[in-house]
Amino acid sequence: MKPSVIETDLVIIGGGGSGLAAAVRARELGLERVTILEKTGRTGGNAWLAVVMLGLGDPIGLDGDLNEWRDQTFGGLMQAGKWTLDPKLIHSFVDTYPDMVRWLIAKGLKFDVNGFDVGGRRFSTLCFKERKGDYKVSDPARGPGFLGHFIGDLLAEEARRLSIDIRLKTRAAKILLSEDGTAVRGVLATGPDGEIEVQAPRVILSAGGFAANEEMMRRYCPDEFQNEGPINLLCLGSQTGDGQAMAEEIGLLFGDDMDSGVIAPGHHPWSHSLHEAVHRPEMLWVNTNGERFVNESLSVMAGWAIQKQPQSLLWALFDADTMAHIVAEPSPRQAAMNGTEWLKPLPTEIVKEAAWTRRTAAIAGSVEELAEQIGVPAVELQATIDRYNSLCDERRDSDFVKPAEFLRPLRTPPFYGVLGARFCHGSEGGAKVDGSMAVRKLDGSPVAGLWATGDNTSGWVVHWGLPGTTLGFAFTSGYIAGTSAASFADC
Ligand SMILES: Cc1cc2nc3c(=O)[nH]c(=O)nc-3n(C[C@H](O)[C@H](O)[C@H](O)COP(=O)(O)OP(=O)(O)OC[C@H]3O[C@@H](n4cnc5c(N)ncnc54)[C@H](O)[C@@H]3O)c2cc1C
Repeated sequence: MKPSVIETDLVIIGGGGSGLAAAVRARELGLERVTILEKTGRTGGNAWLAVVMLGLGDPIGLDGDLNEWRDQTFGGLMQAGKWTLDPKLIHSFVDTYPDMVRWLIAKGLKFDVNGFDVGGRRFSTLCFKERKGDYKVSDPARGPGFLGHFIGDLLAEEARRLSIDIRLKTRAAKILLSEDGTAVRGVLATGPDGEIEVQAPRVILSAGGFAANEEMMRRYCPDEFQNEGPINLLCLGSQTGDGQAMAEEIGLLFGDDMDSGVIAPGHHPWSHSLHEAVHRPEMLWVNTNGERFVNESLSVMAGWAIQKQPQSLLWALFDADTMAHIVAEPSPRQAAMNGTEWLKPLPTEIVKEAAWTRRTAAIAGSVEELAEQIGVPAVELQATIDRYNSLCDERRDSDFVKPAEFLRPLRTPPFYGVLGARFCHGSEGGAKVDGSMAVRKLDGSPVAGLWATGDNTSGWVVHWGLPGTTLGFAFTSGYIAGTSAASFADC
């Protein structure tokens, strides 16, 4: 059967964070007919789950001179990307970001400016103070209900108000090019009523990442698989790399900064308080040999070190005194994310989980019993704890230089253990884009009328070096691509 044909001015593949921003921006700037193809049953994508966005200095300086912020953020991003990122793209991102935030504020965005320390560095972030809706999720440390969700809903409402044609449950399969391959002419997709050919002189590729596609994860991010071990998926199952596949199919140039979005440690299965406990800086982390291997205050930024451990696993250990301390005192990171209550249920949730036959948490009366429960050699574990306790007594971590404020000995039973593993928020990387989000082919030639955004693109990926960058880039790249599409004159 022949596909049914739809004509539009701009078609956007993916109704997530960047796709929505692109659609609204292009429509506002005058494109009459804008169509979004979204393969799931709702808009928002992974952005719907995101918590914080790149900060604008602390306190926010939107009204003041932003040049200092721009210079610092450009330098911070380039440094996080080991100065291999595309400087023109990063300048475009950093220069546009404040305007994009102002644009969202004008639409009703409200946020808090916050900051927190990870591994001795201070990060400024924008976050939403009051959680949106009454979400009963097993892990309140992530969305829905946070900043990404709020912005996603704001833009989706705006898209409806502007009569943007949002087609849910419609999966794009192919970008259609002109016969000579120099320009786009539309997208082939499958919707609830069958195949459709969306004819358009402008296409924006905003289909997110490939984290839920193991073949692509192994191909693009082989480092994650040098040492086998579980990678728990936190992102949407719709992140199957369709956008990367469509870009590959038409021969677009890719970047070499593909990132799996894996950070660690986290706890799985998900009892949120155990997850939050794992990366408290007061923990003693040991690998499955019972050895300490890293500064625990790296928190969720310790993924690279964890990846080198047997099975990429660790156990976070603490005693009864530290249990009382972490339940009573939220960490600065938790406070910054409005998570002051997150550890309150820990004493009861850990009891439940320690009773499971599948060993993911432990409660023990002695170090020997703890070693048996978590399956590490008892002699090695005792030696590690003795050494760690002596460093705590000295108030100096001469092994891994963890700040003294986080050094807490393990002496008061019961002793607790929580399993920590790698977890994946979604991948980044794909088609290389310039500062206007236009793509290029492998031979360097442009494709007229084609742009790409967000996690579908390369040239900016900072491997979690600056918190909030991916969400900030998603909305900003969408905003820029929408602007580019609106000013593109089709012949
Ligand atoms: C749990 C979680 C927490 C996060 N927290 C943060 C955070 O605090 N700060 C931060 O900076 N980043 C965070 N991120 C990452 C951030 O959410 C993403 O970087 C951002 O959403 C990327 O936006 P995007 O538009 O590129 O992709 P998405 O928002 O994922 O949108 C892509 C859309 O394309 C759709 N799609 C895919 N294939 C097709 C197809 N073939 N046809 C049609 N539609 C298709 C998808 O269904 C999806 O809706 C988090 C991610 C997760 C999962």
